[in-house]
Amino acid sequence: MKKYILPKIGLSVLPFIKKPFIVLFNVTQRCNLRCSYCFGRYYSDNQELSFNQASKLLFEFYSLGARRLSLSGGEPFLYKDIDALIKFAVELGFEVGLNSNGILVPEHPVVLGLLGNLSISLDGASPETHDRYRGKGSFDKAIQGIEAAHRAGVPLHLCCTLTEANADEWQKILEVGKRYNALVQFSPLYQQFQAGESPLFPRPLEKEKFRKIIRDIIKEKKKRGNIFFSEATYRLILDWQNYEQDTSSNREPGHPICLSGRKMITLDSHGNIFPCLRVTKQVEGKSCIKMGVRQAYREMSSPPCKSCLWACYIEHNSLLNLSFHSIRNFLFSRFKL
Ligand code: SF4
Ligand code: SF4
Repeated sequence: MKKYILPKIGLSVLPFIKKPFIVLFNVTQRCNLRCSYCFGRYYSDNQELSFNQASKLLFEFYSLGARRLSLSGGEPFLYKDIDALIKFAVELGFEVGLNSNGILVPEHPVVLGLLGNLSISLDGASPETHDRYRGKGSFDKAIQGIEAAHRAGVPLHLCCTLTEANADEWQKILEVGKRYNALVQFSPLYQQFQAGESPLFPRPLEKEKFRKIIRDIIKEKKKRGNIFFSEATYRLILDWQNYEQDTSSNREPGHPICLSGRKMITLDSHGNIFPCLRVTKQVEGKSCIKMGVRQAYREMSSPPCKSCLWACYIEHNSLLNLSFHSIRNFLFSRFKL
């Protein structure tokens, strides 16, 4: 396949140009953990694209304008050809990020240096807290992964889902982040979307307690703490009306225009695309394998929601809408301005 070298940011980043810019690729549904609040089908679906199929789709996405690739799962390091796929995507011109639970990170030292950023889930600053919903031994392994990433010098994010288990520990998680020069991003637990799928599902944080934590996170952020997501995103989370509903069919006040399905695409492990990970159960996927990326993108349905509580999507949508706050936050995270 022809090597394709173009600048990392093209015109496709502009919000009014209908081209995808970010591809979130869930390379596998498999996972080596069984977190009780996980919303994936990670234990029953082993179907994955071959390296040839996956690299062909990435090539087509790149040709269409995409420049940012976020590899996820399941646990993406379980995908057999993950190292080759990262190398291929970087050579093509993508900036590649990867979301992991950290366990297999030490086994991939070479490709770590190719990543634009690595996000590792960390729900506590101690085994007692982190392992409560993620399983015994997962904290120690996550820390080993964080250490390996730190040694490799990859820009590191720690992703913490706020639950009643870690409500009093989020500052200690920031300390863990500082130790490894990592930014920490805090997200709410998406109660309504996930609840009921496991008897071990965490109890939701009481609303006022949750809002107090978000207010404290905003204060800490103002002190230029090592917190990712812009202040504007945390304020939108703070002002969300009903935490039991994670999406809204209206565009809520202050929320960015949702560009999922237009600038951001979710590609699943079968080669189907959706506007957003959140709506894969509501919107019919379009098969890039059968139709090719260009046609699948053209025919994809719009999402049923216009605003949501999904912190990473609020931040990405704000960035793609060229919001000053999110651009400043992004530049700070990359260059520690
Ligand atoms: S590590 Fe992530 S994908 Fe795996 S079970 Fe936990 S939440 Fe789900
Ligand atoms: S509003 Fe949020 S959940 Fe809905 S499609 Fe957009 S990004 Fe996804």
